[in-house]
Amino acid sequence: MTAIFARKALLADGWHEQVRLQFDRGRITAIERGVIAGDAEYQAGIVIPGLANAHSHAFQRALAGHTESRSPKGKDNFWTWRNRMYALAGRVDASRMKAIARQAYIEMLCSGYTSVAEFHYLHNEPGEKRSGTAMLEAIVDSATESGIRLTYVPVLYERAGFEEPQPTAEQRRFASNVDEFLQHYSDAASFTGDTVTCGIGAHSLRAVTRESLDRIAAAANRDGVPMHIHIAEQRREVEQCLAVHDRRPVEWLLENYQLDSNWCLVHATHMDTEETQALARTGAVVCLCPSTEANLGDGLFRLQDWMQQGGHIAIGSDSHISINPFEELRWLEYGQRLITEQRNIAALSHQHTGRNLFESAAAGGALATGQDTGRLEKGAMADLVVLDDESPMLAGHGIDSILDALVFSGFTLPIDRVMVHGEWQVVNGRHRAAQAAGEEYVRVVRDLLRETEADR
Ligand SMILES: [Zn+2]
Repeated sequence: MTAIFARKALLADGWHEQVRLQFDRGRITAIERGVIAGDAEYQAGIVIPGLANAHSHAFQRALAGHTESRSPKGKDNFWTWRNRMYALAGRVDASRMKAIARQAYIEMLCSGYTSVAEFHYLHNEPGEKRSGTAMLEAIVDSATESGIRLTYVPVLYERAGFEEPQPTAEQRRFASNVDEFLQHYSDAASFTGDTVTCGIGAHSLRAVTRESLDRIAAAANRDGVPMHIHIAEQRREVEQCLAVHDRRPVEWLLENYQLDSNWCLVHATHMDTEETQALARTGAVVCLCPSTEANLGDGLFRLQDWMQQGGHIAIGSDSHISINPFEELRWLEYGQRLITEQRNIAALSHQHTGRNLFESAAAGGALATGQDTGRLEKGAMADLVVLDDESPMLAGHGIDSILDALVFSGFTLPIDRVMVHGEWQVVNGRHRAAQAAGEEYVRVVRDLLRETEADR
C-alpha cells in the first residue's frame, strides 16, 4: 500500500476534493489536493480520520444487555450494576479476556474507532496472588490480532474506598500495591511497538492513596505518557470526597496536582461551575462515555459550559453497552438538548454540530491516547475511515453536513474500509477476522454467563 485517492477527504485544514494520500511505514507521507487518481491503488469515496476510543474496559463487553432487568428490591443503580460486573470479572481469565477483547476491538474498528485506550485493572488471573503479565498479554494480543492501535493503560487499584484501606474480596483481582504496580507498568514497556504504547492510570481518588497517586503522576510526567483517572462519576464519590478532604473530587485534584493536556479525566460528571472553569483552563482532556453514563444512571456532564471554556473532550465506549463513536457523540449532544430545551449546543465554533463534535473528539482522543492520530496531515499516523459516498444515508449531503448525517442518523454506518498504521483492517464493511473471532466470543460468553448465573 502506497497511495489512495479520495473524492472527498476531511484533512487537518478542512474538507478537500480529489485528494491523493500517500503512506509509508504507517504514516502519511504526502497529501495532494485537486489532483487526479493517477496510480493510486484504491479510489475511495469519502475519507475521514479514525477516532480514538479513549476509555475501554474490554471485558465488560460480555455484560452488555445482561443487566437490564429490575432487581427484586427495585433500587438499581451504578453500585448494584457494579456487583454484577464484579461477578463477571471474577471469572475472566487471560484466555477469556483475549476472546472478549478481540471481539470488542473488531467491533470498534468496524464502527470507525482506529485506536483504543484500555483502562485495565484486571491484573491478576482468578486465584493468582500476584500480578503477572498474562492479562496484559491477552490485551496486547487481542489488539494486535484485531489491528486496532492500543494505548495500554495499567490502572492502580489499592483499596475499597476513601476510608477503607483494604480492597473487598471481589476487588482483590484488581489490587496491587504501588511498588508492584509500577513494576508492572515498567514491564509493560517491553510489549510496546508500532501500534502498541502505554499510558498509566489510577482507578479513582477513592481507590488509591495520596502517596500512590503522587508516584503514578510523577511516572506519567517523567515518561510523557497520558495519565488517566475516573473522577466524579457518581454523587456518592463527591460526598465521600467532601467528607474526607472537604473538597469535591475535581477541586481536590486541581489543588494538589499540576494538571495539563497529558491528564485524561474520565467522566467528570459532577463538577460545579468553578471546577468546570478551572479544569478547562489546565488543558486536561475530559473523556465522556455518554452511552455508558446514561446506561448506569451517572448524570449529565456540563458540556455547554465546558466547550465555552475551550475544554478538550474525548469519547469512550467504557462498558461497551454501545460500540459506535457516532452514537456517543449523538447522545452527548442529545443529553444537553433534553436538559436545556435547545438545539445545536455543541456547535460553538462551527455552524455544524456533528462536525464540531467529531473534530473535538478526534483531537482530544489523540491527546488522551498519546497518539499522533485524529487528523489527516503529512507526518500523522495513517489511521483513517473510508465512507461509501453512494450510501443512501449520505444522499444529498455535501461536505458541510456529512458529519452531521453520521452523528445524528448514522444508525447503520456507511463504513466501507478502515485503515490503521497504513494497513486495511476492514474491507467492504467487514473485518478480516470477524467470523473466527465472533465464533470464539460466542462460545466464551455462553460459558461465562452460565457460570455467573449458576452462582447467583
Ligand atoms: Zn471506566
